[in-house]
Amino acid sequence: MSNAIPRIQLPINEPVRSYAPGSPERAELKQALADLAQNPLDIPLYIGGEEVRTGKLKPVTAPHDHSQVLAQVHQAGPDEMHAAIEAALEAQEAWSEMPWAHRLSVFRRAAQLLAGPHRARVNAATMLGQSKNAYQAEIDSACEQIDFWRFNAYFACQLLAEQPPISPTGIWNRLEMRPLEGFVFAVSPFNFTSIGGNLPTAPAMLGNVAVWKPAATAVLSNWLLMQVLREAGLPGGVINFVSGPSSQIGDVALKHPSLAGVHFTGSTGVFQHMVRTVGENIANYKSYPRVCGETGGKDFVFAHPSADVPRLVTALTRGAFEYQGQKCSAASRAYIPQSLWPAVEAGLRRDLESISVGSPVDFRNFVNAVISRQAYDEITGYIKHAQQSPDAEVLIGGEFDDSKGYFVHPTVIRAKKPDYRCMVEEIFGPVLTIYVYPDAEFEETLALCDRSSPYALTGAVFANDRYAIQTADRALKNAAGNFYINDKPTGAVVGQQPFGGARASGTNDKAGSSLNLMRWLSPRTIKENFNPPSDYRYRFLEAE
Ligand code: NAD
Repeated sequence: MSNAIPRIQLPINEPVRSYAPGSPERAELKQALADLAQNPLDIPLYIGGEEVRTGKLKPVTAPHDHSQVLAQVHQAGPDEMHAAIEAALEAQEAWSEMPWAHRLSVFRRAAQLLAGPHRARVNAATMLGQSKNAYQAEIDSACEQIDFWRFNAYFACQLLAEQPPISPTGIWNRLEMRPLEGFVFAVSPFNFTSIGGNLPTAPAMLGNVAVWKPAATAVLSNWLLMQVLREAGLPGGVINFVSGPSSQIGDVALKHPSLAGVHFTGSTGVFQHMVRTVGENIANYKSYPRVCGETGGKDFVFAHPSADVPRLVTALTRGAFEYQGQKCSAASRAYIPQSLWPAVEAGLRRDLESISVGSPVDFRNFVNAVISRQAYDEITGYIKHAQQSPDAEVLIGGEFDDSKGYFVHPTVIRAKKPDYRCMVEEIFGPVLTIYVYPDAEFEETLALCDRSSPYALTGAVFANDRYAIQTADRALKNAAGNFYINDKPTGAVVGQQPFGGARASGTNDKAGSSLNLMRWLSPRTIKENFNPPSDYRYRFLEAE
């Protein structure tokens, strides 16, 4: 099997379960929620296949009920980070020599375990620890993670099978798809459990070893994914799970001479710090580290006067407020033509009046809490600014309350200037800012949209007029790495819409595709000659 040409059948996307009242999945999920709530976990580090308990503990609390402690997490310091790097480097040879079929089987089995026996518990951990409703948890920590593991295994096979097209008679040219030499530092954000699971495993599928630093606010669900990988047979040392204060452990990894790659998703500022640190240390590494980062966004919905209003309103409501706007792809600015504005405003008011805000454990709530005190303060700071600014008006929402959890109600701001700060800065919360433009200034406003924010992650155009779609498509070519026509700018699916943005939004390495996996390979070209020459002289040297 291991000598066969790498090939896996094309997977299908994991079906999304409904969690409708009376369904078996709903009962199972409720049971898992109760179990996690009643039994707080003690979460260790995982280094070289061993659980490590430092005794320095940090609690994980529920964002929707900050008095509820869900876990105590053992914190790493520089010594544990060094140990994790050493463990990864020790595991490297055996793991990279493991035949592809055995290696990829670990992740395909993990997908199966997550699709079945671990699904409810990982979803419940995402709901409680990151305050996601059942549907948002299902599409993230179950379906997207399962898809990452199944599809990346499929894409890995395609890459591993890649060979030079020509070998003349007597010559055999081949490519050996080596992993990088050294370890990959995988640093993941709070907002998608599946990004946590993907960042260390995408490189590992190709034979790399990794040190995984999860976000402090997502440790609960991320630790459960680590358990799934262990149960699926991932050998010790291949992925080392290290939680701890970034200020103490981040640079230990970033400055290490064996740093072979950084696989990051998170904010633009943190990524810029990482790139800067790697740049400053560039002469100290054994290889040039591959630096791959997906970062912030200021994602837009741009409506043309020919747009269908009900569909546009639904895209705005879902795109801006699902998961409290804490998706890197969330619609956070919109450009609406004057002629459509009264109907769009009325539609948004209708939608938002019907949305209930509260704990994800109560399945009637569409919007839950934002992730942390810091996020709450930042988001509400923007709302307070808009409430006082002559350049903005808070039209809908604007309420917030942190007495029990970090709740911010869906808020719509109208900006009177297209460069008002809520139109250009990433807020990362349930706040949608709208700029209403004169119908006759479609093209001028497209140009404004293109240049007024440094980001370029996702964006959508709504129009029925095909010329308008064509014009927007061209004008916004570099304004989004994922561009949507008559659809909301969120909800990319693995295997369907490879994800990532450029400009200040990242290196655009397209998570969930072979383009991303290529970053974790360092191919060796081998030319074998079956009949090498035995005389240095060429024929042209011969006498006439
Ligand atoms: P964050 O930048 O605060 O944290 C991300 C990770 O970096 C965490 O694990 C954090 O502990 C770690 N970190 C922070 N400082 C560090 C340092 N000095 N050294 C090493 N690690 C360090 O981001 P977040 O709040 O978890 O996530 C939200 C951000 O992520 C938003 O900006 C969002 O747009 C972005 N995001 C982008 C994508 C994408 O695909 N483009 C996807 C999801 C989230």
